[in-house]
Amino acid sequence: MNNMDTVSTDVLIIGGGPSGLATSIHLADIFKNRGQSGRILLIEKGSFIGSHILSGAVIKPAVFKELLPEVDFYEIPFNAKVTKDKTVLLGKKNSITLPFHIPYMSNKGNYTASLGQICKYLATKAEEKGVEIYTGFSVDEVLYKDGKVIGAKTKDTGLDHHGKQLENFQAGTRIEAKITIFAEGTRGSLTKMLIEKFELNKGKNEQVYSLGCKELWSVPQGNIEAGEIYHTMGYPLNNDEFGGGFIYGLNDNKVAVGLVVGLDYKDLSFDVHDAMQVWKTTSFVSNILKGGKLIEYGAKTLPEGGYYAIPKLYVDNALIVGDSAGLVTMPALKGVHLAIRSGMLAALTAANALSNNDTSEKSLQQYEILMNKCAIRKEMYPVRNFRQGFAKGLIIGGIHFGTQLITGGAGFFGRLRSHADYQTTQKLSEYKKKPFKERFKGKLEFDKVLTFDKSTDVYHSGVYHDEQQVVHLQINDLEKYNAVNIEQYGAPEQFYCSSEVYEIHTNKDGKKELRIHAENCMHCKTCDIKSPGNAITWVVPNGGNGPDFQNM
Ligand SMILES: Cc1cc2nc3c(=O)[nH]c(=O)nc-3n(C[C@H](O)[C@H](O)[C@H](O)COP(=O)(O)OP(=O)(O)OC[C@H]3O[C@@H](n4cnc5c(N)ncnc54)[C@H](O)[C@@H]3O)c2cc1C
Repeated sequence: MNNMDTVSTDVLIIGGGPSGLATSIHLADIFKNRGQSGRILLIEKGSFIGSHILSGAVIKPAVFKELLPEVDFYEIPFNAKVTKDKTVLLGKKNSITLPFHIPYMSNKGNYTASLGQICKYLATKAEEKGVEIYTGFSVDEVLYKDGKVIGAKTKDTGLDHHGKQLENFQAGTRIEAKITIFAEGTRGSLTKMLIEKFELNKGKNEQVYSLGCKELWSVPQGNIEAGEIYHTMGYPLNNDEFGGGFIYGLNDNKVAVGLVVGLDYKDLSFDVHDAMQVWKTTSFVSNILKGGKLIEYGAKTLPEGGYYAIPKLYVDNALIVGDSAGLVTMPALKGVHLAIRSGMLAALTAANALSNNDTSEKSLQQYEILMNKCAIRKEMYPVRNFRQGFAKGLIIGGIHFGTQLITGGAGFFGRLRSHADYQTTQKLSEYKKKPFKERFKGKLEFDKVLTFDKSTDVYHSGVYHDEQQVVHLQINDLEKYNAVNIEQYGAPEQFYCSSEVYEIHTNKDGKKELRIHAENCMHCKTCDIKSPGNAITWVVPNGGNGPDFQNM
């Protein structure tokens, strides 16, 4: 794509994850089957498809057969069918394997996989079907005409820190589209603007998120089999912290391990990355990793608000799919199959709208109607109160969940509300329990064999950002940030950031100030979600910048 152009397309898809790729594949198939012509453009900010993809992953496979009916299922690069699936209750020293599955957590018939590899495969299928995929381009602006979406624009490059044009300046490309599909994944930066502009979350619950930190390891043969999976509950999390660990056995003696923690915790100094290191020291996890080697590290948030937090997903000329739409089922920790299904429904809606020459909101409402009839609602509605139930701690959450199970999801209180994650962090003066560092005193010295400090882990993500560009982590109001985030909250960014982007430095006058190491950013979006007072906005950096995940 020439950076100076304006290009036109029938459908523009922003994001090359499972939702965006599924949209493109299904749309190309519908066009072909109907003899309908149409150009499909997909733009991905990662330098290649998969490079910004991070998931567990244990995936529900059925929807792949619907997406690619002509393909031999075994051609799809899953790892292994789940053979052993256990939930483990971890204590500081001991562990108990539960003799049953917690409702909705069974993985019978599912497959372990690297989602990045699956996406790479889907991209080859999409290109075979005529989809034009452009990687290494960040889309940073939605284009509007008469208040309606008419496409989007890729980011200008060749700017210095202050936004001044350098010799290598290149204006971004305007992409004008009859329909634009927002498939940006979790906390999409353009989707967020779209939701705000059109008040798409009016009357809905606040979206809430978890942060997942993940490591990929190579371990000696016999430590874990491909297809053997464990979910852990308990240590190192306490009653105020919602989440747990995952251990997924992959082919070739690889194992994916990670800790996923709800961002509604109260302790400003809580650190998911460091908690994962403590988690790895339990004998249950360390035995699986024993003698092994760290291969990759990464982190990403995922939307957990569930059914009541799904925004309106259509406006004139635009649709929202996948994680950007909030389509993840808790408690199963699964979003890939919903991302694909939503992409397929968006494709059908878009194809119908184009053939009727009507891409208005009224026409695109078909997407919501289809979604309400299909497996997405069937899966998300019965657990519509699940995550909110845990806002007051694990014990109350467990009781809520019990009542929801016997009332078809309603519980005894009907719809439970949620609060934005940044509102739950307590100020320095409010938090009375032991802060994170005291809780795990003696356990936060990392040996670089089993446990790793953030900078070593970040090194294993292959992350890269151009030095010359406007910092993509924007402090919305520096004065307010200093007065509120640093003074009242002790700058929680330095703890919650998965990749050591935020550093608090004391200047020569003894004043604390923030330093931003944007070059480390993993694109997990935690700062956009958890910063007190909504102080930080994450915007896309230059295309091709970010992590360089190979098998996440
Ligand atoms: C730690 C963790 C574990 C998980 N485990 C599982 C599991 O075991 N099973 C399961 O089913 N689900 C799991 N999920 C959820 C699952 O990964 C997501 O639901 C799924 O990836 C969503 O797909 P998506 O296409 O919507 O978004 P993504 O997979 O996030 O893809 C979005 C893509 O859009 C690109 N993009 C974003 N913004 C822009 C822009 N402005 N311009 C250009 N490109 C852009 C991104 O670079 C990315 O490649 C897990 C998630 C996490 C974080």
